[in-house]
Amino acid sequence: MLLSITTAHRPATDLGYLLMKNPARCQSFDLAFGRAHVFYPVAEEGRCTAALLLDLDPVGLVRGWKGPTGDSGTLGQYVNDRPYVSSSFLSVALARVYGSALKGQSKERQDLAEAAIPLEAALSAVPCRGGDRLLMRLFEPLGYTVRAERLPLDKRFPAWGESPFFAVTLSATCRLRDLLTHLYVLLPVLDDEKHYWVGEDELEKLLARGEGWLSAHPERDLIVSRYLKRQRRLVREALERLVADEDPDPEATEEVQTRQEEALEEKISLNEQRIGAVVAALKQAGARRVIDLGCGEGRLLQALIRDREFDRVVGTDVSWRALEMARRRLDPERLPQKVKDRLDLFQGALTYRDSRFAGFDAACAIEVIEHLDPGRLPAFERCVFEFARPSTIVMTTPNTEFNVRFTGLAAGRFRHRDHRFEWTRDEFQAWASAAGRHFGYSARFLPVGPVDPEVGPPTQMVVFSR
Ligand code: SAH
Repeated sequence: MLLSITTAHRPATDLGYLLMKNPARCQSFDLAFGRAHVFYPVAEEGRCTAALLLDLDPVGLVRGWKGPTGDSGTLGQYVNDRPYVSSSFLSVALARVYGSALKGQSKERQDLAEAAIPLEAALSAVPCRGGDRLLMRLFEPLGYTVRAERLPLDKRFPAWGESPFFAVTLSATCRLRDLLTHLYVLLPVLDDEKHYWVGEDELEKLLARGEGWLSAHPERDLIVSRYLKRQRRLVREALERLVADEDPDPEATEEVQTRQEEALEEKISLNEQRIGAVVAALKQAGARRVIDLGCGEGRLLQALIRDREFDRVVGTDVSWRALEMARRRLDPERLPQKVKDRLDLFQGALTYRDSRFAGFDAACAIEVIEHLDPGRLPAFERCVFEFARPSTIVMTTPNTEFNVRFTGLAAGRFRHRDHRFEWTRDEFQAWASAAGRHFGYSARFLPVGPVDPEVGPPTQMVVFSR
């Protein structure tokens, strides 16, 4: 079983510092079930590959066997695919041999350990119970480009057909610890055959290794279920701990609902038109420092950060998950330092006074007010108009009159299940004009999206100025 990790980050030989294994040496490690060897087939300035070769001892495996024997009998214990494929044994070896790298620690190159660098992992034989589609579904949402080639059962006997094993290459620009962590968790999931009995400590390991990515992974339930070998009590506990307390998963629900809203509005790519309209309003106002209140997945932030006219771009949202997605979308680690310095994200609630909202030329709240309980609107108004008090405030909200034009939406329904209300043009203008008057701002109303002669535009926008 061979896992090779390659980087082209210069000097590539720094990979040795990250893995804490000297590229000039071949090292071997004794494990309970065999030996692991680490060596570098290539160690050059521009490219460096570290190979981890796992040499499993089938007899040792049987000796160390603690779980039930299954139905493969004694022969099956000795003659099986375990020595050749990447499985939970590889995860154990990773933790033993690359333990510090897995934790993101490097004695001599800590900065590099925390940086996203181009990495490629090649695995000689990955058992994909579920086919290569599963491979894609597991790794692609984490940002990997996946290449998989199905291996023949035996090269010398093509007539025997294909094996269930794949030669796999995963590439991404990410931190080495993330790559190792994803492999650690997902290889046993692909294999779906854990070599040891699954207990409480496996549950804890999964939660620890899954921190920051597993709860938002679209295949979360499958990963948890397979990793814990479908032990229902453990799976249930893991899922419960991965999600929030009350609503089984409010933010995931929100995500699904947001997708539904997007699908509904997709035909006219309203989202893009909205962002275009907001950016135009900001430019017209001459805003340079902008805060996006309720930034969600960071689409507006992405448009702003690309434009050098905006020299401070800050996003805030109450949802940690939304911020994680924004972080993934913007990928600050990948940005040049100068761009990264202009950007900031923080968690915050728009109904509590927060000094971090102040000091901007403009604030945006794009498709946000309709997510607030009407009773909280006065608190939101004070936060934005009175305490943050930028020169320009841009807000958008759905025009509920337009809903009759969405064929996929039943009459009387909101576009998004988390909307607490949706306003007609009159209702929105009445609210915004009153708020503007009260806090000393003028309000200008603009349509976003194609204006229907009867029901108006799909989105309504207000630009407040003081
Ligand atoms: N502005 C983004 C997201 C709109 S969805 C876009 O246009 O794509 C509404 C967002 O408001 C969600 O991300 C939600 O988490 C956030 N939100 C709702 N109530 C909030 C509150 N009280 N404080 C901060 N953010 C809030």
